[in-house]
Amino acid sequence: MKIKYELIKKDGNARLGKLKTNHGTFDTPMFMPVGTRASVKGVTPEMLKNTNSGIILANTYHLWLRPGEDIVKLNGGLHKFMNYNGPILTDSGGFQVFSLAKNKEKDITDEGVHFKSHIDGTELFLTPEKSIEIQNKLDSDIAMSFDECPPYPVSREYMEKSINRTIEWAKRGKKVHNNENQSLFGIVQGGEFQDLRYESCKKTVEIGFDGYSIGGTSVGEDKPTMYKMIEDGVKYLPENKVRYLMGVGDPIDILEGVERGIDIFDCVLPTRLARHGVAFTRGGKINFNNAKYKEDLSCIDEDCDCYACKNYTKSYIRHLINVEEMLGATLLSIHNIRFLIKLTEEIRVAIKNDNFKEYKEDFIKKYTGINHSMKLKSKYFNLIKENKKTIEARLLDEKRKDIKVGDKIEFTCVETQEKLVKEVKDLIIKNNFEELFDDYIDDITCNEIKEELLNVINEIYNKDKQNKYKVVGIKLG
Ligand SMILES: [Zn+2]
Repeated sequence: MKIKYELIKKDGNARLGKLKTNHGTFDTPMFMPVGTRASVKGVTPEMLKNTNSGIILANTYHLWLRPGEDIVKLNGGLHKFMNYNGPILTDSGGFQVFSLAKNKEKDITDEGVHFKSHIDGTELFLTPEKSIEIQNKLDSDIAMSFDECPPYPVSREYMEKSINRTIEWAKRGKKVHNNENQSLFGIVQGGEFQDLRYESCKKTVEIGFDGYSIGGTSVGEDKPTMYKMIEDGVKYLPENKVRYLMGVGDPIDILEGVERGIDIFDCVLPTRLARHGVAFTRGGKINFNNAKYKEDLSCIDEDCDCYACKNYTKSYIRHLINVEEMLGATLLSIHNIRFLIKLTEEIRVAIKNDNFKEYKEDFIKKYTGINHSMKLKSKYFNLIKENKKTIEARLLDEKRKDIKVGDKIEFTCVETQEKLVKEVKDLIIKNNFEELFDDYIDDITCNEIKEELLNVINEIYNKDKQNKYKVVGIKLG
């Protein structure tokens, strides 16, 4: 059976709906936790269920490389493999593959994409047909079309070529899709160009899919641009099909997305932040690496009803994070996932009561009030591979009080790769990045790939020349 979406009610463009799948029905808007490698990091399926999550995502690219789709099939498909009997969506692998393609001109062809495995540097080739074939075998409830996800910004000329390629790929993928129990989504691209978004939207709908996604957002553009991309991307989507905004899960972005007619969101943010000791609260994010929680006997968030908040104090969680006990990340993951799921629950009630706009304003006011200072932190890094022995970072952000403009922070003697990666990750997380690469930075054993990855990060965080935060330099050895 294919999925069935029912639009129940609208409040402005915000939509209250229901999605029926072969593995259960859930209400929308809904946040979808990410189980990159067939596991939502640190959380068992039972714990996930207790957060009221409706659907999870797994990454085709990662499962293709390890363990391979045939092993998943041997286990009876993804649901059986990971002992999760709720709805699962798989992405197409495109996002990972494009960030790994070395020479964009040469490696991205109409046929498919050439790239090197992030694990060992093996040369690989992914086509729209192959992506669908893998997803058919993974046997998720929803598969995604293979699309080109260009970085931001690219020229209009490139984007025009790119959306047409994505349309052709969507057709090719649909042709080979042969899993009766799996639905297939089309993806709207077009960058920040309104007419290209419209064109991509219309042509994708023309091909006909079970649901539609907005792609190419959250790739380095500023927030107003991102919200405009969403608006333009949904413009010509049919009301009776579900809409999914890929890779977006910041609480404020969820609210902005719902306001523009989005039904499903996904993001690694809740579990990633948890692994770094950070929790969402109504008053903004809090960081348990901070010693001020040492004697704090309150729970993470008074408004939360999750297992962690019902049973543990901040003091205990601070201790777990401080001594790097695994349970710390697990408890914070449960909380952060529940936080976003609860947000969508409250959004649904607000839509039902025709007061979504008021709810949104009220939430953002509370959430950003305390969190504002965090936003002022440096947002741009420059990662340079030069020095063999040290990582060094230079913050030139005038808003940082703890570090003066031009100061150097040195991370000396990086002996092992783990330490190197950890320090880079810590630097990134401390500065409140959305780390595009965290999912695979753990796996890297190939120096060449590591350098490429850093070049990509370099590109992303340097392209906005307008930013008032100057550059941080990190030398990697
Ligand atoms: Zn909680």
